[in-house]
Amino acid sequence: MADQVRVRFAPSPTGYLHVGGARTALYNWLYARKTGGVFVLRIEDTDRERSTDESTRTILDGMTWLGLGWDEGPTHQADGLARHRADAERLLRDGKAYRCFCTPEELAARREAMGKEYRYDRACMAVAADESADRAAAGVPFTVRFRVPGGTTEWDDVVHGVTTFDNASIEDFVILRSDGTPIYNMAVVSDDIDMRITHVVRGDDHIANTPKQILLYQALGAPVPVFGHLPMILGEDGRKLSKRHGATAVGDYAQMGILPEALFNFLALLGWNPGDEREVMEKDELVEAFSLERINKKAAVFDTEKLLWMNGQYLARKSAEELLPLVAPRLVEDGLVTQAQVDARPEWLLALVDALKVRSRSTLEIAPQARPLIGETVEYDEAAVAKHWKDPATAERLEAVRNVLGHLQPWTPEAIEPALREAAENAGVGFGKVAQPLRVALTGSAASPGIDQVLWVMGRERALGRIDSALRRIGSGAAPE
Ligand code: GLU
Repeated sequence: MADQVRVRFAPSPTGYLHVGGARTALYNWLYARKTGGVFVLRIEDTDRERSTDESTRTILDGMTWLGLGWDEGPTHQADGLARHRADAERLLRDGKAYRCFCTPEELAARREAMGKEYRYDRACMAVAADESADRAAAGVPFTVRFRVPGGTTEWDDVVHGVTTFDNASIEDFVILRSDGTPIYNMAVVSDDIDMRITHVVRGDDHIANTPKQILLYQALGAPVPVFGHLPMILGEDGRKLSKRHGATAVGDYAQMGILPEALFNFLALLGWNPGDEREVMEKDELVEAFSLERINKKAAVFDTEKLLWMNGQYLARKSAEELLPLVAPRLVEDGLVTQAQVDARPEWLLALVDALKVRSRSTLEIAPQARPLIGETVEYDEAAVAKHWKDPATAERLEAVRNVLGHLQPWTPEAIEPALREAAENAGVGFGKVAQPLRVALTGSAASPGIDQVLWVMGRERALGRIDSALRRIGSGAAPE
C-alpha cells in the first residue's frame, strides 16, 4: 500500500489569513480528505520580530470559520530549533556544508564590487576542516553554508510540470546564522522531514526556494516530497491581489456577510476546476472531485461579483433557522424586531428570513430588505406609485381587498392567497391588477416577496394600516393621474 498522504499548511504568523493563504490551506485540506491523508498545521514563527500571537489566533480562527480543520498541530516552528540546528550540524559533519568566517562587511564589499552577478565566492570552502574547527573553537563567529553540488536540480511539479534549475545559479546559501539559528529553508526542510510530509503544495512565490530545499533533502538522505506551486491570485485589474483591491482577509468576508461555505466553494474554484460545468459544489462534492492535476497553471482572477453570486446560492440553500442567528443582530440593531422576538423564533420571523434569503447575495442584504415589510413606516417609491396607482379604480380595489383581509380567518399565507384571487375576480380584473397596487401600498415598492408572504409576515394590523395610508394618499390626490 502506498504511504499515507501527509500535507501541511505552514503560515507565517505575521498578518491576517489572506485569501491566497486560505486557498493554499484549502487545497491541502481537500487533498488530505480526498486521499484519506493527514493535514498538518505548522505555524512558521521563527521570525520573532514579525510573528505575533494575535496573528496566529486570527489564522486559526479564519481556518476554523472556513471549516478547514487540521489533523495534527498546530506545531510551532520555533519549537524545532534544536532539531534544525542538529540537521545543519550533521551536514557540516558530513562535509556537505562548511563554516564561513567571512564578515558581513567583507561580504558587503564583494557584493558591491560584483553587482548583480554576485554569488558567494566560496572563499571559506577552501579552509581545511581542522582549521575551521579550531577557529570556531577559538570563538571566531561563523555561519554555516550549504555546499551546492554541480549539475541540475529537477522536479516534476504537479502544477507546472518538470521544472529544472541549474545548480550553478544557486550560491552556497547560509543554513545556520552566526547566532546558531537556522535560515528559513533549513527550518522548513527539517520540519517537513520530521513531519514526514509527502506533498508540499504552496504558493508559487516559493518556487525559487524549492531547488535549495530539494538539495537539502538529498544531502540529508531524506525522500524528496512531491511539490506543487499554486499560481497567484490577481485582482480584476490583472495585478497581484492586495489590500489595494479591498477585502483580502478571510475575516473581511465574514464581515461582508459572506457565508463560510460560499467562500470555501469560491476559493476551491479559484485556480482549480472539476473538469465539468459544476460551480456550486458543497464540501463533500469538492473532496470527491478534487485532484492536484487539475490545478491551473495560470493565475486566477478574484471576481467579487462571482463570490456574491455564489453566496446568494448558498443563502438560498440555508434554512431560516440557520440564517436567523446571522441576520438577527442587524434586525435588532435596526429596531425592526426585539431580541425577545428573535429568541421566541416565531414562524413569521422565520418566514421573513425565508422570503428574503432568495433575494439576497449576502446576509447583510437581508435586514435592509426587511425594513419595508416590518418597519414602522413605509417609504413610497414614486415611480412605483405613478405606475401602479394610476388606474382610477385603484382606491376602489384596495378598499375591496381591505374588506376581505379585515375579515379573513385564519390569517395564514394559505388563506390569504385565495382571498386575494377572489377579490380580483370580483373586481373583474387579473390578479396582478390587485396585487401590484396592493404591493405598493404595503411595501412602498413594486418588488417584494410573494404578496401572501408579505401580508402574513407584516401581520393584519400593520397591513390594514398601510392600506389605509395608501387610500388617504390616493384620496388626497397625491397619486398622479
Ligand atoms: N511560511 C511560508 C509562507 O507563509 C510557507 C512555507 C511553505 O509552505 O513551505 O509563505
